[in-house]
Amino acid sequence: MSRNEILDANICEDDESSLRPSSFDEYVGQTNLKENLKVFVGAAKLRDESLDHVLLYGPPGLGKTTMSMIIANEMGTNIKITTGPSIEKTGDLVAILTALEPGDVLFIDEIHRLNKVVEEILYPAMEDFCVDVVIGKEASTRSVRIDLPPFTLVGATTRAGDLSAPLRDRFGIVSKLEYYDETDLKTIIDRTSRVYQMPMDDDAKTALAMRSRGTPRIANRLFRRVRDFAQFNGEDVITKERTIEALDRLKVDQLGLDDVDHKYLLGIIHRFKGGPVGLESLAASIGEEPQTLEDVYEPYLLQIGLIKRTPRGRIATFEAYNHLNIQMED
Ligand code: ADP
Repeated sequence: MSRNEILDANICEDDESSLRPSSFDEYVGQTNLKENLKVFVGAAKLRDESLDHVLLYGPPGLGKTTMSMIIANEMGTNIKITTGPSIEKTGDLVAILTALEPGDVLFIDEIHRLNKVVEEILYPAMEDFCVDVVIGKEASTRSVRIDLPPFTLVGATTRAGDLSAPLRDRFGIVSKLEYYDETDLKTIIDRTSRVYQMPMDDDAKTALAMRSRGTPRIANRLFRRVRDFAQFNGEDVITKERTIEALDRLKVDQLGLDDVDHKYLLGIIHRFKGGPVGLESLAASIGEEPQTLEDVYEPYLLQIGLIKRTPRGRIATFEAYNHLNIQMED
C-alpha cells in the first residue's frame, strides 16, 4: 500500500478520503483513460522504470486527485500531494523534489497556477531528473546541479489552455476527464451508500445520479445531505421521495443546477436579452467571480446544451429557456 503525504496545509482529506477508490478496478468510468493508464503503468513496472509524467485536466470533482493516488498505489510507490499556488519560491519546489524517493509520484493540483520562475525549475526536473540551484552570495554565486531520483509528476488542472507550451510538452501522457453518465454515477453512489452503511433504494440512486451534474464529488456531497434528511426523519433506508424532497430543499433542480446556475442563466436571459454577453460583464452583473463561472459552472451548462460560447460571448439556448419555463422573445 502506498503512503500519501500531503504537503499543502490547505488541502484537507476530510470525508472524501474514505470514499476514494484505491485501484483501477474500483475507479468507476473514464474507461479510456483507465485502460490506457493500466497499460502504461504495467509496462513501466515491467521495465522497472518510473511512469512517464501525466497531465490530467477537466472540471473539478471528476477524479483527478483520486486517479493520481491510484497511479501511485498501482505502481507501489508513495505520493506527495501539493498545489501550484502553495509553491511560492523555487526553494520550496527544490525541497520537495530532493525529498522524493525513486519512483515516487508528485501530484501538483492546479498546476496552471505555478509561478513562472518555479515552473522553470520543473523543466530539467521532468526531462533529465535534475535541478540547477544557485548557491553563494553576490560575486561568489555559482550554479550547482543536483540529481534527482526518477519520479512521476502528475499535474492536474481545470484549465489546460492556461498551461505554457514548454510545460505541457513535457508530459508524456495527457488526458481529459469527462463528465460521468448516469449509470457510472449510480455505481459510485452505490459504493458510497455501502461505505456509509446507509442503504438507498435503486430509484433514489437514479434520482440522485440525475441531479449530480455528472460529477462524483457532487454525488457524494448530495448523498451526505440526503442521508441527513433520511436519518433526521428516523429512516434507515433512503427512499426516492426523501431524496427528491431533500434535493428540492437544497435547491438542486432536475438537471442538477443550483442557485448559481440559475442566476447565471437568468442573468443572460433577463439582463442581456439572451446574449451574446461577455463573461466579465455577466459575472459582474450577478456578483460572481468570472474564473469560478468559467471553471466550475460553464463546462456543465455547455455539456448539457443550455449555453453556447460564440466569439461574441455567451448565449442562452432554446433548451435553457425551456428548462426555466421562460418564453423566448423574437
Ligand atoms: P478532482 O481532483 O478532479 O477535483 P477528486 O479526485 O478529488 O476530484 O474526486 C472527488 C471525489 O469523488 C473523491 O473523493 C472520490 O470519492 C470521488 N470520485 C472521483 N472519481 C471517482 C471514480 N471514478 N470512481 C469513484 N469515485 C470517484
